[in-house]
Amino acid sequence: MAEPAAKPRTPIESGVPDPFQYMHPTTIRNFGQWKYHERPQPGVLKHVAESGEALYTVRAGTQRQMDLATVRKLCDIADEFAEGHFRFTIRSNIEYLVADEAKVQPLIDKLRAEGFPVGGTGPSVTMISHTQGWLHCDIPGTDASGVVKALMDELHDEFVREDMPNRVHITTSCCQINCGGQGDIAINIQHTKPPKINHDLVANVCERPSVVARCPVAAIRPALVNGKPSLEVDEQKCICCGACYPPCPPMEINDPEHSKLAIWIGGNHSNARGAPTFHKLVCSGLPNNPPRWPEVAEVVKKILHIYREDARDYERVGEWVERIGWPRFFELTNLPFTKFHIENWRGSRQTLNASAHVRF
Ligand code: SF4
Ligand code: SF4
Repeated sequence: MAEPAAKPRTPIESGVPDPFQYMHPTTIRNFGQWKYHERPQPGVLKHVAESGEALYTVRAGTQRQMDLATVRKLCDIADEFAEGHFRFTIRSNIEYLVADEAKVQPLIDKLRAEGFPVGGTGPSVTMISHTQGWLHCDIPGTDASGVVKALMDELHDEFVREDMPNRVHITTSCCQINCGGQGDIAINIQHTKPPKINHDLVANVCERPSVVARCPVAAIRPALVNGKPSLEVDEQKCICCGACYPPCPPMEINDPEHSKLAIWIGGNHSNARGAPTFHKLVCSGLPNNPPRWPEVAEVVKKILHIYREDARDYERVGEWVERIGWPRFFELTNLPFTKFHIENWRGSRQTLNASAHVRF
């Protein structure tokens, strides 16, 4: 019997899909032709095109980790109260797009009635951008999404009103080394003890040379433990960064007591009005205390409230601190300033593994 003709292999499409198929028709018609935008009320943006057409965006907060029923509910709201189009921002805000001004207020009322606060525009505390946390990633020391939900419950007023000096971008990161970014206020995991090594598993699970190469301070050495090939850590050198844990899970760095949360402020990715800035440590050693992380919430709210009272209009958090000076910042917030806030390690230039080579 003749062999059936081989079917040609269908190409697998990967990468970003064509965005135009998802856009609101007003956006497509006026693509690249926007003249100006304004904010008629908190949570609403009005974009006006050169053609005279206007498009309203209504922004609401979500809990980000959503169940199917919530996604369906958001879609139903889009069909019934908007014009069938919405999108998510990088900060997990949902944005509905409507061309008809008469639909804006009923849409806002419906979102509020369903428990989605409308806000996050202009000088407000918009949703917190966060990394994956326990749900998706295999190395987190905390649940970034949970910190966000707990904190945004506390910052509801700051989200729905536009009464901060400038916009406030808060970020969280659930390990010390990977995703996450600069934020006006950043809540980041902070390991305080070197990894604990399960020597029985290292030889089976880890590719030892790549683990040794991962350490930024060359603190890991191959070793023979109980007759098995394993690794050892020079604890005097280890900076508790956790970089060895992803390629070698038996080097457990997460610890319920010794993995803490630290707060950094003044970071800014954008270079719209000034150069981007790195955030700086202001508070460390806060307990990693799910499900509500009250100690973190207390410090973040304290910083935010003093920033609101003391900063000038349009000053971002980092600009405010640069103007008043760091000693004044610690005075105002009453946060303890310790020797650990000072970066005085002279060895970094010579010893930190700063090569841009990709390692596997
Ligand atoms: S910050 Fe680290 S732990 Fe959190 S999702 Fe990213 S890689 Fe995973
Ligand atoms: S935690 Fe960081 S510094 Fe310590 S041994 Fe692992 S990679 Fe090296």
